[in-house]
Amino acid sequence: MKLLFLFLDGIGLGADNPETNPFVRANMPHLGSLLGGKKLTGSAAPFENEHLSLIAADPNLGVKGLPQSATGQAVLLTGINIPAELGYHYGPKPNPEVAQYLDGETLFSKIVKAGKKTALLNAYPPRYFDGIDSGKRLYSSIPLALTNAGISLFTDKDYYEGKALSADFTGEGWREFLGISDSPLFEPEVAGKKLGELASQYDFSFFEYWASDYAGHKQDMPWAIRQLETFDSVLKGLLEAWQAEEGLIVLTSDHGNMEDLSTRKHTAAQVPLIVFGNSNARNDFSGITQLSEIAPAISKYLQL
Ligand SMILES: [Zn+2]
Repeated sequence: MKLLFLFLDGIGLGADNPETNPFVRANMPHLGSLLGGKKLTGSAAPFENEHLSLIAADPNLGVKGLPQSATGQAVLLTGINIPAELGYHYGPKPNPEVAQYLDGETLFSKIVKAGKKTALLNAYPPRYFDGIDSGKRLYSSIPLALTNAGISLFTDKDYYEGKALSADFTGEGWREFLGISDSPLFEPEVAGKKLGELASQYDFSFFEYWASDYAGHKQDMPWAIRQLETFDSVLKGLLEAWQAEEGLIVLTSDHGNMEDLSTRKHTAAQVPLIVFGNSNARNDFSGITQLSEIAPAISKYLQL
């Protein structure tokens, strides 16, 4: 029983409008065939077949204002409706009130307590740790929850040794933006296979992709389309390497953004919850309507 949590920041279920929604424009043959020929938009959910379940999950959680990353990710990791308890959505980085929840019971702390293996499969470059150490950079909710649970983040050394992947899957960003010219580079499908192989080594693994939220804030349609087409190939490799009988892959987000490029802000859209794997194993997720119900379903599945 294994679970890979594939987190894509800032993707909602948007309108079937090619003017504003890159999910309508992007060529995603692999995900498209898994969704019975549909695009990943609001009109596609709910959907279920032998491969996956697609559910629309509400990130607004009954709280006014647009959903934000720190609270959204903290909800995904704790199962607590934190925006309702605090009375607001907050982000991008956690404030002390949100951070408190991430020092309590999270999926990471529970899995550690249960004596099971867990990892955040992202590798972080030296520049990231310099920022944290100097106090110039704050942890976002996911690395904060991980480190609070006593697990270390993967470094550039781990990346070179093949124990983790770069946040953009392929490693292009390490070369182009970080200027590390000899860093590993993967074709998207190979990166997906690598992700599947790594995830298979853990009871609960997590991968965080944030460029989708960034493209949404930049309202950058060509970049958004490129990301989605890369992701489609990653997914192909991932599902080939990941044996469905081994467990589940849970793909979801913290809030909408990239699905509506008419605004640079987050959106109030429902977010996709896609659960890949055996249909009996997917049962724990079947009644979900909002973000706070995902962590409890994961805990139940992993018997935490
Ligand atoms: Zn954002």
